[in-house]
Amino acid sequence: MKFIKTIIGSHPKFQKPIPTDVPYLEISEFFYDTIQGEGINLGQPAAFLRVQHCTQNCWWCDTKEVWRTGNPYTMEELFEMIDKTDLVEKLKSGQHLILTGGSPLKQQKGITQFLQDFIKKYSFKPVVEVENECTLMPTEDFSRLVDIWNNSPKLKHSGNPDSLRYQPDIIRHLSKLDNAWFKFVVVQDEDWDEINVSFLQPGLIRREQIILMPLGGTREGLHRIRETVVEIAVRESVRYSSREHIELWDKKTGV
Ligand code: SF4
Repeated sequence: MKFIKTIIGSHPKFQKPIPTDVPYLEISEFFYDTIQGEGINLGQPAAFLRVQHCTQNCWWCDTKEVWRTGNPYTMEELFEMIDKTDLVEKLKSGQHLILTGGSPLKQQKGITQFLQDFIKKYSFKPVVEVENECTLMPTEDFSRLVDIWNNSPKLKHSGNPDSLRYQPDIIRHLSKLDNAWFKFVVVQDEDWDEINVSFLQPGLIRREQIILMPLGGTREGLHRIRETVVEIAVRESVRYSSREHIELWDKKTGV
């Protein structure tokens, strides 16, 4: 897409060494001048910082090939790259900074450092959204920097072991944070039963925080399932979200 600007491209052709004495972030891709494609802020102009590594291994993950590769960048290197772009101006004019992965919380210490340094350097705090698979407890320092929590606990159909994907204490904690949403990837009616039994009935989350989103890493796959998911959302009086980046660009990364 011509209008989307890349700071760090996916699938690096070289491997940088891990720095030994300074903080760094392992990043898979970094781009801006696009839109948030999912969830409560669908359509919001945004920049995406995608970090490497994840706590999960969802069989249908459509970014696996991206977050499994990447490179470590020191804060200095990151700011050097940012200074060659108009990213800061775009964030000042309203683009959200979306931390995604992989698992941003796996690198929350480095991200916290990056955001604190960013605020100091540019005297400005961007609106920060985080995509969160809900398996790691956020620190207070990290939580203070996040404006919108796009939590997405994984259901059984993700193929992850229950002990790895379902962390009730963490989910309960997240649901109490400001602007916390729970975006569930749904395939069929049984998935609603699981949301009800495992999340709603034990009081881990509130109904008004729920967003249902169809599984679909391709436009064709999305179109096969979306009507079923809309039907469940309407029946259960919860929000529905499309995957607009898939609708627009199909199976393409860096958008
Ligand atoms: S949690 Fe998200 S990034 Fe990680 S494997 Fe699952 S879908 Fe992919």
